[in-house]
Amino acid sequence: MKSVLFSRFFILLPWILIVIIMLDVDTRRPAPPLTPRPHFSPYAAAGRGAARVPLPRRVSPGRHAEQRNESRPRAEPEPPLPTIYAITPTYSRPVQKAELTRLANTFRQVARLHWILVEDAAARSELVSRFLARAGLPSTHLHVPTPRRYKRPGLPRATEQRNAGLAWLRQTHQQQRSQPGVLFFADDDNTYSLELFQEMRTTRKVSVWPVGLVGGRRYERPLVENGKVVGWYTGWRADRPFAIDMAGFAVSLQVILSNPKAVFTRRGSQPGMQESDFLKQITTVEELEPKASNCTKVLVWHTRTEKVNLANEPKYLVDTVKIEV
Ligand code: UDP
Ligand code: MN
Repeated sequence: MKSVLFSRFFILLPWILIVIIMLDVDTRRPAPPLTPRPHFSPYAAAGRGAARVPLPRRVSPGRHAEQRNESRPRAEPEPPLPTIYAITPTYSRPVQKAELTRLANTFRQVARLHWILVEDAAARSELVSRFLARAGLPSTHLHVPTPRRYKRPGLPRATEQRNAGLAWLRQTHQQQRSQPGVLFFADDDNTYSLELFQEMRTTRKVSVWPVGLVGGRRYERPLVENGKVVGWYTGWRADRPFAIDMAGFAVSLQVILSNPKAVFTRRGSQPGMQESDFLKQITTVEELEPKASNCTKVLVWHTRTEKVNLANEPKYLVDTVKIEV
């Protein structure tokens, strides 16, 4: 009887031990975060400013890394994440604060993003100044008015503002030329996915990707063969050297600095040729780096906000309080 009990005990013992070990391993796993983070969490931290959130720690040559893989050599310190500079021209209109709010809500989720907001105005407005002060983003607030003669339908918009952003970048980086950075032009009414920033961050010279809802089509995109841009899928002026919207490319800071004369021009520039005229000065089609899975994914949309109906705004019996909208 005793020996039967003993043999049963020894048969069960390894199983009991296995169950105990499994339970222990499971409880050692960290609890999942309350709010799920996007799958590309290294990029999903806020930047400097009021709403500062520390960057998630990247793999450092610490004790834990060594414990997990002792045969691996010590990790080299990673190079700093290139800063993304977003140049946004903006102008006063009823929807301005709403547009800027949407944009800031996106940008706040991108690590190392510096927002260069350029007002189309003779002076910095109080609305935008107050907005930026509370936005919780590293930013630079510039202004330059568009000359009256250029404020006509059919003429390119925001030429002067984009150039002011470029001038600021060049001046700011005059001394420290080796800082890694990427510039892109972020109009205030477009819609940007967070993945887009992940893609553009690795721009070496000039990178390109598809843009949704533009050119009279669901999307426009660079055509890619063997990793190179060989043409353009577009429904509008296919003869453009770079048949791409302003939202469809990014440029490395190095390229901006080494081409100090590259700017947007009004003289000789036909409508819709702003992008081509600018890109011609800094790159060639062969040199372009296709992003977004060889330009097969739409990560940015050229959305346009409907003009608001203010037909019932009172002229005389206005509200008793003054409210900024
Ligand atoms: N913009 C500007 N001044 C203007 C018109 C537009 O600064 O007089 C800005 C606008 O806020 C946006 C960019 O220029 O960031 C492009 O303008 P819009 O979105 O009207 O152009 P579209 O998308 O129609 O090409
Ligand atoms: Mn627009």
